[in-house]
Amino acid sequence: MNLMDAMENSVRDTVVLGTGCAGLTAAIYAARANLRPLVIEGHEPGGQLSLTTLVENFPGFPEGIQGPELINNMRRQAERFGAEFMAGHLVRADLAQRPFNLDFGGGKTVRARTLIIASGASARWLGLPSEQALIGHGVSSCATCDGFFFKGKPITVIGGGDSAMEEALFLTRFATKVTVIHRRDHFRASKIMLDRARKHEKIEFMVDTVVEEVQDVSKKEVTALKLRNAKTGKVWDLPTAAMFLGIGHEPNARMFRGQLDMDDDGYLKTYDFVMTRVPGVFACGDVQDRRYRQAITAAGSGCAAAIEAEKFLEEHGR
Ligand code: NAP
Repeated sequence: MNLMDAMENSVRDTVVLGTGCAGLTAAIYAARANLRPLVIEGHEPGGQLSLTTLVENFPGFPEGIQGPELINNMRRQAERFGAEFMAGHLVRADLAQRPFNLDFGGGKTVRARTLIIASGASARWLGLPSEQALIGHGVSSCATCDGFFFKGKPITVIGGGDSAMEEALFLTRFATKVTVIHRRDHFRASKIMLDRARKHEKIEFMVDTVVEEVQDVSKKEVTALKLRNAKTGKVWDLPTAAMFLGIGHEPNARMFRGQLDMDDDGYLKTYDFVMTRVPGVFACGDVQDRRYRQAITAAGSGCAAAIEAEKFLEEHGR
């Protein structure tokens, strides 16, 4: 569906922003409730799941399922019940009055009686071409999802905050050794997390160190990292089987600043699970969850958001 068609469809009952696990689950529930949701697909179609390989902890798949396959199944399921999809990037939203006005730039707008925000949080990456080429092949931003694949192998974690410490500690279950690589010698991590990591016999730290390149793109697997000491300029190779990024996430909620409540890091604040402070606007998945960040919890909150949207329309008229 293109934007012009969506605009001609006057006011939509429900617009779902995002096509990750939360957004697609919301779309399935809203579509089955006959709300004919319009689902907006942004920059990262399929969300974080589409960046992983085998998903082994989503209930119902005893042998595991590939992340992209799981997300594709969810999309087909939503389409089967009448969800419509549209590519677009929300530039501005006016939530002051209903129906809400959603501006996609270039004079293209969609009006919605209810809005489900499932725009996710994007993992921060280093931005190296070799890193991008090896995502899902030894480069990962999710230790819970992918740590298991590197059982009995040396692993590296990048970052100096709590996420990096948490990932490093988690990965000691599988790895022979975990090397934490941090670009400075000062850590953002809380003292308790840092101390725990420092005391762990399997964890080693390399500070003032930056990653120059992830090897080996030609083999489609991680074999080593080319590192540089930020102070001395010394360059060397560190053999490793995997590189986990623990350098933070960016919630995709900037366009709602000033209209919805956010915490200090820009995650949307919700009340009673999925309610924002604006009646008729719901938030689910990683854009409002910095704690669990799992596919199944995102799906659960997407389901709740769609049920709340349905209840809201029943109470306020469609
Ligand atoms: P964070 O505190 O912002 O730390 C990010 C780390 O990544 C910093 O050390 C930063 O280095 C480094 N970094 C950022 N961009 C980088 C780049 N391009 N190259 C190399 N290094 C880079 O993020 P976080 O660790 O995800 O934590 C976010 C929030 O969640 C914090 O409030 C944290 O306490 C909380 N959290 C808590 C727990 C827990 O308590 N269990 C677990 C996870 C997160 P610099 O220091 O040099 O900037």
